[in-house]
Amino acid sequence: MYRYIYGPVSSWRFGVSLGIDLLSQEKKICSFDCVYCQIGKTGLFSCERKMFVSTEDVIEEIKRLPEVEIDYYTFSGRGEPTLAKNLKDIALWIKREKKGKCALLTNSSTITDISVQEDIMVMDLVSFKIDAATQKTFEKINTPCCGIELDKIIEAIGKFRKNYRGIFTIQIMFVEENLKEAHEIASICRKLKPDIVYLNTPLRDSRVPPLTVEQFRTVEEVFRDIPHLSVFGAKKKKVEPISLADTIKRRGEKL
Ligand code: SF4
Repeated sequence: MYRYIYGPVSSWRFGVSLGIDLLSQEKKICSFDCVYCQIGKTGLFSCERKMFVSTEDVIEEIKRLPEVEIDYYTFSGRGEPTLAKNLKDIALWIKREKKGKCALLTNSSTITDISVQEDIMVMDLVSFKIDAATQKTFEKINTPCCGIELDKIIEAIGKFRKNYRGIFTIQIMFVEENLKEAHEIASICRKLKPDIVYLNTPLRDSRVPPLTVEQFRTVEEVFRDIPHLSVFGAKKKKVEPISLADTIKRRGEKL
């Protein structure tokens, strides 16, 4: 019934979030293959921006939505959403026609591309993934393609941050591998001055286990002077997805 939208789900970060997947391919298409990815291994590594689905078809689906309360229309799904060239057009349509707020969950890999920086300026909220402080750990956790360099990403996020007027957030997935870099990652966050940092550990399907509650508390202690929200402390609204199967396909088994 719906091919490009899923949920809405109760997100610990965004309230009631309607997911929009502008890739919507059987294989996951991403510039990363994170060890904790809840939707399995990357089927196609790519850093190339292109049209995966038609703008008109996505808009037609959003028009068909039943009346549901939505806090954010969230661009996410099976892969890296900034690879979709029609991201900005669809966000602008939602803001104009639905008077809705748009959020973007990005793995940050494309932010060095000026066209991506310009496109995502229209978002009301952007959440950048930063899981490592060193290239070595970045490669172990995120498995980036196309020779992507962490330093260049962080520099580009800093430049974007200076001009961006929406809610600027950073998401960090902590696992055993990057626990040792928690202090360095916190230093990067202090420099970037996010409105909020989302501290996470993989509680849904993952190839690596989550941190224990005790380990996670040590992370929270490191971030105590930075505005943050933790996956363990967050409250969620109760909400029913319009299509459970499509939602699980994008988010893993546990909603
Ligand atoms: S977690 Fe996100 S960035 Fe990482 S491989 Fe999965 S879809 Fe790509």
